[in-house]
Amino acid sequence: MDMVELNIAKLAEIASQASDQPLDQHSEGNAQFKMSDFLMSAFSIFFMQSESWLSYQRRIKNNNGTSNSQTLFKIKNIPTDKQIGTILDKINPEFFATFFNYAFDDILSRNILDQFTVLDNRKLISIDSTEFFNSKTTHCENCSHKYHKKSDSFEYFHTLVGLTICSPNTTEIIPLMPTFPSNSQTKANKTQSHETIKQNREYEAALRLVNNLDKKILQLDPIFLGEAMLATVSFIRLVQRNSNTNFILTCKPGSNKSLFEFIDNNNLEELSITNKIAPNKLEKITYKWLNNIPLTDSQDCVTVNFMSAEVVKLTNNSKIKSHKPPDNSIKTNNHSFITDIEITKDNIQTLIKLGLTNWRKKSSFNSLKTRGYNFEHNFGHGKSNLTNVLATLLIIAFLIHTLGRLGDTVYSKAFSYFQNFSWFINDTASLSKYLDFKSLTCLYDFIIEKSEQNKSKKS
Ligand SMILES: [Zn+2]
Repeated sequence: MDMVELNIAKLAEIASQASDQPLDQHSEGNAQFKMSDFLMSAFSIFFMQSESWLSYQRRIKNNNGTSNSQTLFKIKNIPTDKQIGTILDKINPEFFATFFNYAFDDILSRNILDQFTVLDNRKLISIDSTEFFNSKTTHCENCSHKYHKKSDSFEYFHTLVGLTICSPNTTEIIPLMPTFPSNSQTKANKTQSHETIKQNREYEAALRLVNNLDKKILQLDPIFLGEAMLATVSFIRLVQRNSNTNFILTCKPGSNKSLFEFIDNNNLEELSITNKIAPNKLEKITYKWLNNIPLTDSQDCVTVNFMSAEVVKLTNNSKIKSHKPPDNSIKTNNHSFITDIEITKDNIQTLIKLGLTNWRKKSSFNSLKTRGYNFEHNFGHGKSNLTNVLATLLIIAFLIHTLGRLGDTVYSKAFSYFQNFSWFINDTASLSKYLDFKSLTCLYDFIIEKSEQNKSKKS
């Protein structure tokens, strides 16, 4: 078995070993189903990224007695969408920690992280919050909510805070086990705005994640990347408890006021570089930095190193005129970070590049949401855990596809015949609706064989 199949088999095994308590307690009519049937059914939809995949398999199984749901995802009996929603709502998302641990060990044993290495054999771990559900009407006990005074109405949403291994060397990202900020973990203060309460919840969830980091992750000598929300004394102290961890955090004048005042009143080191990025395009980057400056003006403050990069892109006939406001042909971007790595003329460009990895990572994480998370009408929102469980299963599907491209010979070979992931996954889902496959490897082998035949026909 290759990596993708092994990971899916492991997920099914963990699910089948789970206590069937929720089944016994809440749904007498489900005796013929195992926990793995519910979990793997929902997972199969996310993995195949096809809403109709499971209902096809139901029909095929009813006619033939067997279907690809069993051979590819170890689903013995396929429950209805409603049954899946009811049972998954009873599972705590923490349940999936065993799977994430297994996957991480597998990643380490196959040296998959080598291509993510930065600086002196270190890894970047980004901490990020993502809103993945939003509604004005549908909600559950784990929803966060905002009250809109104007319309006298509530808005409900779910966010997750996740750690992701990323690198400027690759567009791939490896998500680790996420956590879900919940209403109960932070007591809302009535004087705070809803935005502040939401941010506090996410901030505390991020702190908990870093506080409870597995030793295996610490052994990667991680450099944490994070949003301005984390540029605080508490977070930095937490990171610095470990001698082999560092941070590069976005900082903003709004949330780090005294830091920016300090910068405005002091001379910074400076380095300017102009690159030709296309025949008609120039890019001028001005790097500025200063080491050992106080993060806040309070007494228990920490010192940090500040760096910024101003990127000016010039097209056609425009000229660099920094004293003039940019015209239409000039695009300016400004990025500011704090770090505890000493900044020098020699490493400033690398450090800024590492800090910017967080932005690129964010866009691939967002594609995850738009690509797969719209199955509410299949399974419902649930009363308590369902939505968070589905989000976790979606992340697991994303992770296994990533591992397929990074470490699975057959999967990555099959994938190589397609220009993008959407085309590949559409074909995979369609083929497995109409043809029987003994395993995922057989399905990928089929794609390879047919693609090779087409190639030789052409030539
Ligand atoms: Zn909810």
